[in-house]
Amino acid sequence: MQGRKKVLVTGAGGFIGHHLVTDLKDKGYWVRGVDIKHPEFTEIDADEFEILDLRRWDNCLQATRGVDEVYALGADMGGMGFISVYHAQILYNNALINMHTLEAARVNNVKRYLYTSSACIYPEYKQLDAEVTPLKEADAYPAQPQDAYGWEKLITEQLCTHYRNDYGMETRIVRFHNIFGPYGTYEGGREKAPAALCRKVAMAKLAGNPEIEIWGDGEQTRSFCYIDDCVAGLYRLMQSDYAEPLNLGQDRMVTINELADIIAAAAGIDIVKKHVEGPQGVRGRNSDNTRIREVLGWEPEISLEEGLTRTYAWIEEQIRSKPL
Ligand code: NAD
Repeated sequence: MQGRKKVLVTGAGGFIGHHLVTDLKDKGYWVRGVDIKHPEFTEIDADEFEILDLRRWDNCLQATRGVDEVYALGADMGGMGFISVYHAQILYNNALINMHTLEAARVNNVKRYLYTSSACIYPEYKQLDAEVTPLKEADAYPAQPQDAYGWEKLITEQLCTHYRNDYGMETRIVRFHNIFGPYGTYEGGREKAPAALCRKVAMAKLAGNPEIEIWGDGEQTRSFCYIDDCVAGLYRLMQSDYAEPLNLGQDRMVTINELADIIAAAAGIDIVKKHVEGPQGVRGRNSDNTRIREVLGWEPEISLEEGLTRTYAWIEEQIRSKPL
């Protein structure tokens, strides 16, 4: 129990943010959530929830007032279908959100600030093969992220490091590798691969038509980490003394075809994969978890099969409950 330490979670109306709010409330924190929208699928557990556009400086000052710690999750983001298209919007919006939120936190004497970066910061030239060597934190430089989304994350990582060095503010930086789970976006264009495939498999099951579309040949590789493991790692990182960027993700790599097969097994159906043109991102990506094991003693505990079974069940339920 942490008494009434006060915490701000930005992006609390989003997928990871709203799960994190619930976890922090369970741990006894006083929590303010901020977002430009309410969570889509569930109530928020925060003590206070404010609708604020964090691109605006005055709103960032309001959001960060009177809190000890900030978990900065607010971002204009989505899956490959989104981040491979809206480069200018993403770079502009996220740069404003992060510069203003971090500076407002400094002005308001926030003690600790955790920034959520991404595996998208890693250079394209290290991710050309499906059988990729797992990415270590030091692989980030020389920099060559694939999308504007990754460049902005890298700049904000740098900004956090300079705020720590120049102003003595305790900053923490996590690099997520594909987080998934229930209560995340699964349709509309911003969804990521696990949720999109769960939706496609559920629709195939309900329609009695086994065909699902996969972008590319499906042999591109990734690793996927379940939300509960992610939230546990985030909390540990915030408590830790470790101030360098840290990977947080699964280190079990699968192809997108394998991911679809695991989801089909969870749904209890056989699927037929139709490979179509679509954005695929880098050819291969996996997390090297050596550092997070050493510094946080963190290890993902929920298997991909278990996490996808839970996620699939939730998405199938959402689709079933929609009017035809
Ligand atoms: P999400 O899109 O569900 O949540 C982000 C939230 O930020 C959204 O609710 C959105 O409305 C909010 N937001 C956007 N613009 C805003 C603004 N101007 N002011 C206030 N709020 C605004 O995404 P998520 O998956 O929960 O991701 C959380 C963080 O983790 C983000 O920074 C994201 O870049 C990072 N991340 C996520 C993953 C992943 O696999 N989910 C991977 C790498 C990095």
